[in-house]
Amino acid sequence: MNILVTGGTGYIGSHTVVELLTAGHKVTVVDNLCNSSADSLAKVSEICHCSSIPFAECDIRDRAALGRVMDSDRFDAVIHFAGLKAVGESVEKPWEYYDNNIGGTLVLLDVMRQHGVKNIIFSSSATVYGDPQEIPITETCPKGQCTNPYGWTKSMLEQVLTDLQMADSEWNVVLLRYFNPIGAHPSGLIGENPNGIPNNLMPYITQTAVGIRKELGIFGNDYPTPDGTGVRDYIHVVDLARGHVAALKAIAGKCGIETFNLGTGTGYSVLDVVRAFEKANGVKVPYSIKPRRAGDIAACYSDPSKAFRVLGWKAEYGIEDMCRHSWNFQKNLLK
Ligand code: NAD
Ligand code: UDP
Repeated sequence: MNILVTGGTGYIGSHTVVELLTAGHKVTVVDNLCNSSADSLAKVSEICHCSSIPFAECDIRDRAALGRVMDSDRFDAVIHFAGLKAVGESVEKPWEYYDNNIGGTLVLLDVMRQHGVKNIIFSSSATVYGDPQEIPITETCPKGQCTNPYGWTKSMLEQVLTDLQMADSEWNVVLLRYFNPIGAHPSGLIGENPNGIPNNLMPYITQTAVGIRKELGIFGNDYPTPDGTGVRDYIHVVDLARGHVAALKAIAGKCGIETFNLGTGTGYSVLDVVRAFEKANGVKVPYSIKPRRAGDIAACYSDPSKAFRVLGWKAEYGIEDMCRHSWNFQKNLLK
């Protein structure tokens, strides 16, 4: 298929471009580079042994520029990653998050329908479940109260896409609810390199192990979990990327609207991840226990069986692979 990937120079987008090209799809990327660099596409070309990947530096809120990209080719589907994603920043700058994520997606959807492209895969998040009513979380678990504007943008955009599809059955919409993506491409060429102090656990661990940060703060050890630290469903970014390739099957089968959890189905605590990282890489991760972080929940992990049943997709990599590949990428950044 011929796929337009928004946000394709970013962390998950770049890994997905690798998997799309590997599976034989044609790819064009748009990204405004607000949280990434076009270098990642050069790395993707290197991994895939292919010539340069068509790329437009463009903000998805720029209707005219996006229209020109859509005019340039006949796309079968859009995989839509472009968006801002820092939870804390979204609390400080809610308008910017609603403008970028919701405003950007509304422009994208309008330009798509004007071009007769009505197939979309959307990057959603387990955050839409709020504090989940059941664990493991199935797709039928009711959505909950989000604790920050970022989460609300995902929840609201799911509703926008649901309503759009309900009003016009020509649309095929796949909502992918990611659990906690970590890891990096096994080549060590692409991975996650956040600006400033990392918010997320794995980049904080790798930066601590390499000496950029003094110690990891573990946010609370008094949760009702086996060791008191928060439990999450960490998924290797390459598995997640392959989930998007699998989701194209639903699009090709004219699925209407479908929602899938993309996780492993296994929960690991913060201490489990620290120990797995130390074991996989033979390095120490100094840490201390800090107070709970506002808005965090005790435990969140998926039931990913629907994605296997419908799409034939399941995560293959284990926690130690995730830790090894994250570390490999972090070390390469210093070279
Ligand atoms: P990322 O920041 O690495 O990638 C997002 C990309 O979108 C960046 O390259 C950025 O430059 C681009 N972008 C942002 N606003 C844009 C705009 N208006 N126009 C064009 N490009 C724009 O983030 P990621 O981790 O790869 O996340 C990809 C998607 O997955 C996001 O929508 C994110 O909310 C969602 N998601 C991420 C996680 C996670 O933990 N990483 C979890 C759940 C969902
Ligand atoms: N966490 C932590 N220290 C950090 C970052 C995260 O203890 O510096 C914990 C956090 O409280 C949660 C888990 O690690 O239990 C995953 O957090 P992350 O921010 O990576 O993802 P979230 O699930 O919050 O989206």
